[in-house]
Amino acid sequence: MGGAAITPAMLNLHNHTTFSDGAWTVQEILGAAARSGLSVIGISDHFATSKVHCVMPGELAQYAAAIREAARPYGGRLRVLAGAEIDSSAKRTDFSSIDLKALGALDYALFEYVEDGDADGMPLWEFLDVRKKVACKAGLAHNDFARNFKDMDAGELASVLAGNGIFLEMSTNRSYGRLGKQYYRLWPDLFVRHAKAGGALSIGCDIHSQLARVGDVADALDFLDAHGIRGALDGWLRA
Ligand SMILES: [Zn+2]
Repeated sequence: MGGAAITPAMLNLHNHTTFSDGAWTVQEILGAAARSGLSVIGISDHFATSKVHCVMPGELAQYAAAIREAARPYGGRLRVLAGAEIDSSAKRTDFSSIDLKALGALDYALFEYVEDGDADGMPLWEFLDVRKKVACKAGLAHNDFARNFKDMDAGELASVLAGNGIFLEMSTNRSYGRLGKQYYRLWPDLFVRHAKAGGALSIGCDIHSQLARVGDVADALDFLDAHGIRGALDGWLRA
């Protein structure tokens, strides 16, 4: 996309708009991101799920184009990424009807509920197969790794995820915590080992209506700094 990299990376890649179940338009989210000092913002509306109003496969190109268009006025000051959130439950998403290669129109896809039995999420082994067909970056959104993968060793899980090009989201949304902590703070070793294995990380606020929280990334940045792995965000600054 050109332009110098904007450092340090202050990013929020999980935001919903009126294209799905968000209250604000893409333009309003971008405006709030610029005002709050973020350097990278991603739009990640729900895609092809029966759960909520969402972007349907036939609307993907138009959706991506609308985000690119809204990004234009920001030039190099704010890096805008086009993404989507995909519900991994086969009960709510008909994977047989989705052309995963068409996701190449986007910069990234966030998959929710992987290995989360309570939400009928897809098992990890099945997701690894899906991931190979997704033609953009792919990551796991607001996953309670410490619970969903409690039988796995951190190093083993990190090497599977990083080795398959899967990034991990740190959700700062209050809905995604337990025991008074955000999920990522419940298993720091996984994030450290993932970063050391060359895996990428992202931060997501999961905005639906609380526009003032678009820049609410401080806790995740503190976590990264405390573990010396903030560099795992840098890939998002590159075109
Ligand atoms: Zn979301």
